[in-house]
Amino acid sequence: MKPRADAKYVIGVDLGGTNVRAGVVDRNEKIIGQDKQPSDAKAGTDVVVDRIADTIQKAIDKANQHPEDIAAIGMAVPGQHDVANGVVRWAPNFGAMVDDKFQMWHNVPLRKRLEDRLSIAVVFDNDANVAALGEFRYGAGRKVQTMVMFTLGTGIGGGIIINGKVVQGTTGGGGEIGHMVIMPGGRRCGCGTYGCLEAMTARDAISDRAARKLSEGRPSLLWELVKGDKLALTPAIIDQAARANDPIAIETFQETGYYLGIGVANLINLINPEMVVIGGGIAAATGLLEATERSARANSIRSIAEACTIVRAELEDEAGIMGAAELASQYAAAG
Ligand SMILES: [Zn+2]
Repeated sequence: MKPRADAKYVIGVDLGGTNVRAGVVDRNEKIIGQDKQPSDAKAGTDVVVDRIADTIQKAIDKANQHPEDIAAIGMAVPGQHDVANGVVRWAPNFGAMVDDKFQMWHNVPLRKRLEDRLSIAVVFDNDANVAALGEFRYGAGRKVQTMVMFTLGTGIGGGIIINGKVVQGTTGGGGEIGHMVIMPGGRRCGCGTYGCLEAMTARDAISDRAARKLSEGRPSLLWELVKGDKLALTPAIIDQAARANDPIAIETFQETGYYLGIGVANLINLINPEMVVIGGGIAAATGLLEATERSARANSIRSIAEACTIVRAELEDEAGIMGAAELASQYAAAG
């Protein structure tokens, strides 16, 4: 289905494991109507497609518009996708129980399913690429042309934007910067290899790092905060201790920043970006961004790094919808 290039509005959809949000966005980049519903990610494809379609329809209603007024729908969808054909290759957080076993989405023709329902052109990309696009167009990166975004959380998401375009790669798998190996033989990663940036710096890596330091028997406020249970450590709790100047907590974020900075340095050398944006809740942890920047500059070629600023992301909740709206606008403009 072709986008309606002359229509006044686009829709951005942020599909998450918990909720799906949709916003109708006008040419002045304002959200004029939005809706949010549970995504029921584990209830099977039909239910999720229903949820997405209904959320979009309600957002259109709330904006007092009609489907014919919408140029295209852009979506942020977790997982790996065949972007050109609108097929979800796999999405680990979406699926259903089949014979007592959880089966994740695999080769779901999401574009066709939604276009058949809504009669509006649909384009989607993975959530990390879309967040990078949102940050590029409306957030920290709005004055640059080439940037890299790292999103810190359960995993390390990434998006590379070169001259205004997200790098998709040959099969839509481009920009998986969380899976650069930065320490051969390091922690095992969810992707099956060892020592990926994600395995060394995402949520569980941070918690394990602090737990190992506690195992050395050093005194720490963390013991009190988790009531003696090291398995209860989270980056948020470690940050609470870091703000109270707890040495183990501070070291944990310093070391995490050191490894993250190696990943940033590699991207700086490869891409020569004007800006590196660090997003996700963990990015605010005490001293983490500073440690990351120190390591990034120490481990990259100076003249290239000098052209690059390293900043925190500006958009938080809106990054998904606004990035998806930008994806829809680019799709509509390309016809
Ligand atoms: Zn990996």
